[in-house]
Amino acid sequence: MPQAGLWEEYKVLSDQTLEAVVQCSKCGFCQPTCPTYAVSGLEHEVARGRHQLVRGLVEGRLELDKNLKTALFQCLMCNACYTNCFPKIKTDEIIAEVRNLWIREKGQPALQRYIFHTLLRHPELLGRLLKMASFGKRSGISGLAQVLRCLGWYGKNIANAEGLLESIPKSFLRERLAAQSLIPEKRRGKVAYFVGCGINYAQPDVGYATAQVMNKRGFEVEVIDNYCCGLPAYAYGDLDSVRWFVEKNIRIFSNLQADYIVTDCASCTSFLKEYKRFVPEDSEQQKIVKDFTGRLRDMTTWLYETEDLAEYKTGGNTQTVTLHDPCHLSHYLQEKVAPREVLKNIPAVVYKELAESDFCCGGAGSYNIAHYDVSMKILKRKMAHVKNTGAQVLATACPACIIQISYGVRKFNAPVRIKHVSELVLENSE
Ligand code: SF4
Ligand code: SF4
Repeated sequence: MPQAGLWEEYKVLSDQTLEAVVQCSKCGFCQPTCPTYAVSGLEHEVARGRHQLVRGLVEGRLELDKNLKTALFQCLMCNACYTNCFPKIKTDEIIAEVRNLWIREKGQPALQRYIFHTLLRHPELLGRLLKMASFGKRSGISGLAQVLRCLGWYGKNIANAEGLLESIPKSFLRERLAAQSLIPEKRRGKVAYFVGCGINYAQPDVGYATAQVMNKRGFEVEVIDNYCCGLPAYAYGDLDSVRWFVEKNIRIFSNLQADYIVTDCASCTSFLKEYKRFVPEDSEQQKIVKDFTGRLRDMTTWLYETEDLAEYKTGGNTQTVTLHDPCHLSHYLQEKVAPREVLKNIPAVVYKELAESDFCCGGAGSYNIAHYDVSMKILKRKMAHVKNTGAQVLATACPACIIQISYGVRKFNAPVRIKHVSELVLENSE
């Protein structure tokens, strides 16, 4: 525990966070798995060092200043440290709370506030702005820059944001799915589909494949009219916004009549499982959370559980496929079996394991915009391993990873196509 007296005096963080920080035995097992440590080699950029910084803050030995900010905001929240940590310290929870403290003490950047408090809470407004960006990109005008200018933001990261997305779709997933029947001929059950923002706005083809595969396996699809899961706000420590999204979504989930609740964004899946942390114990909301998380599946897990219903094409050309494990699937949900088994079950797939498959790609939501240089060093390492597999296709299960690794393909000239597991399953289904 921190020194007697100082605990209360500097009690700016929750008991839970303080207890987690003092549990760190400084063993260093987190060091070889930490992407930011791999880039810098600096002790304050690994979980062990970050915990000591937070301890220094709560004991009043360190100030909440720019140096501390750099070390704590540079963390990817990939949770690779958690996987290797014996006391199972959830570094992401510590980091989120310190970032929240930063917002409370120092304020929140205007653009960030606008995104979490206005745009993501009003999807119709976000949709209109992204349509404008899509038009801008197609017509050769800088699309994202145009949108960011409308928001009054001229930061140096505009160029980075602009280059990361090759294109912005003309129509979003919700519009596409609304225009067609999602009821299969032979109905076995029903899936409520949670549509993540990345899939809806950036990768509607992935979501379309997900819905098609569900139909092919005999499941009617109900597209949930959900809000953002809240993870982007959590990553920046905006816990007020997180509670807003949690409350709105719980209200929506309370009326869902479906056998499964499924999402094809591993980040959404893992964060939806965290909703219990944001509602009072023994409340009605807690009961709803328990009910929906019991039925919640990541798409890769759902595919694995329903494999006996799959009908795959046989006799065609084979392709070599490798897999990148999204951090939220491998380090948060600790799920590594399902995506591999699904891929290996496809007759036309020759599966090849990727070295360091669960090492973050550097995408981490919008980390690649906010910390472009560090992100690119992490991506370079990933792309070198991808090239070494000689695979024709890299499969993954999170839109942020798809965006980042697709950018890596262009930037580092890697001859590989990037697909979501759902897309590969659909392409190979009868
Ligand atoms: S592995 Fe866990 S206990 Fe060991 S130094 Fe890292 S965070 Fe601390
Ligand atoms: S969450 Fe990832 S980047 Fe942050 S300390 Fe842990 S391993 Fe390093």
